[in-house]
Amino acid sequence: MLKGKTALVTGSTSGIGLGIALSLARQGANIVLNGFGDAEGPKSEVAAAGAAQGIRVGYHGADMSKPAEIEAMMAHVAAEFGACDILVNNAGIQHVAPVENFPVERWDAIIAINLTSAFHTTRLALPAMKARGWGRILNIASVHGLVASAEKSAYVAAKHGIVGFTKAVALEAATSGVTVNAICPGWVLTPLVQKQVDARAAAAGISNEDAKKQLLAEKQPSLQFTTPEQLGELSVFLCSDAAANVRGQAWSLDGGWTAQ
Ligand code: NAD
Repeated sequence: MLKGKTALVTGSTSGIGLGIALSLARQGANIVLNGFGDAEGPKSEVAAAGAAQGIRVGYHGADMSKPAEIEAMMAHVAAEFGACDILVNNAGIQHVAPVENFPVERWDAIIAINLTSAFHTTRLALPAMKARGWGRILNIASVHGLVASAEKSAYVAAKHGIVGFTKAVALEAATSGVTVNAICPGWVLTPLVQKQVDARAAAAGISNEDAKKQLLAEKQPSLQFTTPEQLGELSVFLCSDAAANVRGQAWSLDGGWTAQ
């Protein structure tokens, strides 16, 4: 379905980004990965997922908090792959602390990586998408783009921001073949959430399994984690022709979290 298209997925060496990259690769899209840590493992996994479709897989290690590196990454994608047809703004970090103790440097990093990076990738990718008459921008927001939790002020501010940004750009592109949407996952058991599980287990003196159950019971009525595979398949749908008129939406995949 996506053969001949190129997808850039930021923060895709792990977790949700990698899950989305794998699903898009299975549909035949060339994939450019980004993120920290080992890139070779994720690159081989994605190449294997798209092997039957003959996809190409690339990687750029831009730090998403640095505009100059983002510009270099976007130029690299255009030069190596011809265009960025699908942009998945996924890179994100978390820090949990009451606002009065929130480290200023963590606030700045969360706003830069979880929000401002999407402004830079979008402004750089959109003109070519519009010129080619087709494009998909998927912003991986969160339930925290719709509702709040205590001690996550920077994350909640950034995620509400990216939902607003999604709507504004969707309107600007509304008469073009470029759609812009946000996806709002509830708890997904990735390294980002495992840190919060570990902190809870340590603070309450409980097992890792009990900490996971508590985390889910507090917010996610299904009592099941959302998976990177489910988010990957939702991304495939939003890239399909059937979703051509889905514009400016914040689509939850949260086990009922925001239905409460
Ligand atoms: P993760 O920690 O598994 O992956 C984060 C990815 O971002 C990694 O590849 C990491 O290397 C990359 N990254 C971090 N800082 C970066 C930077 N400065 N530059 C480039 N890459 C950077 O986390 P995840 O849970 O997969 O989160 C992915 C996205 O999904 C984030 O935006 C997060 O806010 C969002 N999200 C996660 C959950 C959840 O429950 N895990 C829920 C809702 C939304």
